[in-house]
Amino acid sequence: MTQEMKHLPGMTLPELRSFVEALGEPGYRAMQLFKGMHERRVESFEEFTDLPKLFREKLSGVSILRTLRHASKHVSEDGTRRYLFDTAGGNPVETVFIPTEKRDTICFSSQSGCALKCDFCLTAKLGFLQNLTPGEIVEQIIFALNDVYGPGTETPHGTNLVAMGAGEPFNNYENLLKAVSIMNEETGLFIVPGRITISTVGIVPRILEFSELKRRPNLAISLSAPNDELRDRLMPVNKRWNIDELMSAAAVFQKSLRRGERFTFEYVLLDDVNDSKEHAKQLASVLRRYRLDRVKINLIPHNSAEALDYGAPSIERVEAFKLALEAEGVSAYIRKPRGNDIFAACGQLAAKQGKNPVKALTI
Ligand code: SAH
Repeated sequence: MTQEMKHLPGMTLPELRSFVEALGEPGYRAMQLFKGMHERRVESFEEFTDLPKLFREKLSGVSILRTLRHASKHVSEDGTRRYLFDTAGGNPVETVFIPTEKRDTICFSSQSGCALKCDFCLTAKLGFLQNLTPGEIVEQIIFALNDVYGPGTETPHGTNLVAMGAGEPFNNYENLLKAVSIMNEETGLFIVPGRITISTVGIVPRILEFSELKRRPNLAISLSAPNDELRDRLMPVNKRWNIDELMSAAAVFQKSLRRGERFTFEYVLLDDVNDSKEHAKQLASVLRRYRLDRVKINLIPHNSAEALDYGAPSIERVEAFKLALEAEGVSAYIRKPRGNDIFAACGQLAAKQGKNPVKALTI
């Protein structure tokens, strides 16, 4: 039944306009609907108090506001919140809300599970379950904001979004970009592209396509190894597009940056695997070879889990890796893990297998 029901949060303004007109309503109702859903973030049709009652009833017969079913919430000691949902088809979706002093970051999922098989990532163990629809992506953000701030409140200025939850965003490209354009709308969530970052394992044709977009989010590429032999082993996607192809695409992307813009490589640090000074030097020389001088490297010490064979390097090794990169003129930052006590940190999203540690609060 729900298949024929329109899922409203995943519709753009023009789509909503055609939809309301087909129901015999004036076009301006689309804007009222859009604002209610994305600006006030209402949770039910009754809350659209600016719409006639009859229209609200009509709407509830042909459309729905929510498809994700909220299954659980865990709150970390550091304030990070991890939400678990089920899609209508019963697949898990995870979203992480990360507060910092200045601004919030919401880390959302683009797929349920993941097909990529990166050896150090827990989500990979789930395999691929489904692409999320634009509405399922947008709903994650609305849910997190409502959980923290309550419906009807203004979306805080400066909220950042990162497509760094479960899944490979560039393998769900159209849905992802549609969700992004809905969230960009000034009359809605108004989260501008500059505050959104998409992280990819390196789907080369998509990076090239993405380079051509005029208004687009920031890009992060997960590299995690400075040579093909190692990257083949850690990230099997490297056998499809190797480092040469990936770096050539990154160079094309770099050319498309506007003045002052930079982009990011993520590098998961795995103890005794890819974290030596030699690896840092190799990485810097790869960047030089492709003239990638507008990049920064985010170093992510590995977040471990029982099902994974890797560990995080000591803080001394992490620091030494960073210094070795800086000595070669490469900007590097260490990403502080957030919410790892509740399995909310990078690479720990695997709904069905992640155990809930004792300290986590389940609501
Ligand atoms: N599939 C995309 C989006 C996920 S982003 C991508 O890989 O870019 C998740 C980030 O966390 C990626 O940079 C990934 O390499 C990293 N990651 C995966 N498993 C991790 C783990 N166990 N510890 C730390 N980082 C991890």
